[in-house]
Amino acid sequence: MNKFNPAFIVRENIKKLSPYQAKEIPCKIKLDANESPFPVKLSDFISEVNIPLNRYPDPEALKLRKALAKKMKISYTNIMIGNGSDELIYYLILTFGGPVLYPIPTFAMYGIIAQSVGVKKFESKLDSDFDINEEEMINLIKTEKPRLIFISSPNNPTGNTFSTDKILKIIDTARKNPSIVVIDEAYQPFCSDRGFLPFLKDFDNLAILRTLSKIGLAGLRVGYLIGNENLLSEANKVRLPYNVDVLTQYIATAALSKFYAQIKNFITEIVKERIRLQKELSKIKGVTVFPSEANFILFKVKNSQNVYTKLIKSGILIRDMSSTIKNALRVTVGTKEENKEFLKVLNNILGG
Ligand code: PMP
Repeated sequence: MNKFNPAFIVRENIKKLSPYQAKEIPCKIKLDANESPFPVKLSDFISEVNIPLNRYPDPEALKLRKALAKKMKISYTNIMIGNGSDELIYYLILTFGGPVLYPIPTFAMYGIIAQSVGVKKFESKLDSDFDINEEEMINLIKTEKPRLIFISSPNNPTGNTFSTDKILKIIDTARKNPSIVVIDEAYQPFCSDRGFLPFLKDFDNLAILRTLSKIGLAGLRVGYLIGNENLLSEANKVRLPYNVDVLTQYIATAALSKFYAQIKNFITEIVKERIRLQKELSKIKGVTVFPSEANFILFKVKNSQNVYTKLIKSGILIRDMSSTIKNALRVTVGTKEENKEFLKVLNNILGG
């Protein structure tokens, strides 16, 4: 009998994909995935957990939605929870289809999911300051008629926010198309401006994506989509039943109440460290640092891949971005001690 090869029957658009970088590189200091460096452990919550595991979780995740709604002073009916915001990006593309439009370089999942679902994608290059190319985006909206536009602000991996005016013009143009603009605010908690929540009341084609992953709970997998009820009720049609498990719902709800002050302190600490790390990085000869409003910093060095490998050899893992931005590396803000060690090793590598 011939050997069965599943690759023969894979859909064409999946053939061209490779899995999201999921490889684990052992390291002493992990600054590659934009996680929080501060430990939040299951034991912080588990002592009071008495949850029946023989029952399915609340399919509506009501308590968690209400806890989030209270924080943002909006109604829980304007919130949908996902198994990470990745899942919500998937649901949005599955629901509204394509074409999908987004600026690049940006978070890879918009393109990966569009391709795996089999919808067309259009990419608009950021300008030399990594701001959005408003004219090109607006042209693409008018000519290609995307159904969904994803804008990550602050943007991963560049770290900057985009001009609010430009985004508002894009949302306005998209509304007439009609298309939905999703502002991905995964890094909003580290940002000095207020983001797009205040504009939700002005635009019914605007949705906002947020996540608990970057503020200390990446292990839980909780993302949330904020938007008007009509938009959410369409996306709810493709949501898998019980997409957020019972422990996740419980812990996330608890974290938002009794641990929220601690989460906020961690965020303040990360922002303080980001500012310090930025300053220190820019003092190192041969390093070009880009402004950041997130919990990571993009920088350039000559022979970046070589520098990346040498950092790994010293037990420090950051992200090599050179395949998207020439000579670029992205470092997540760690604890004070981790950042110090990273700066010391980088300085040594660059001969400082
Ligand atoms: N959006 C952006 C811009 C991101 O950088 C990430 C994570 N790298 C995500 C969404 C996904 O976050 P989550 O862990 O909530 O799936």
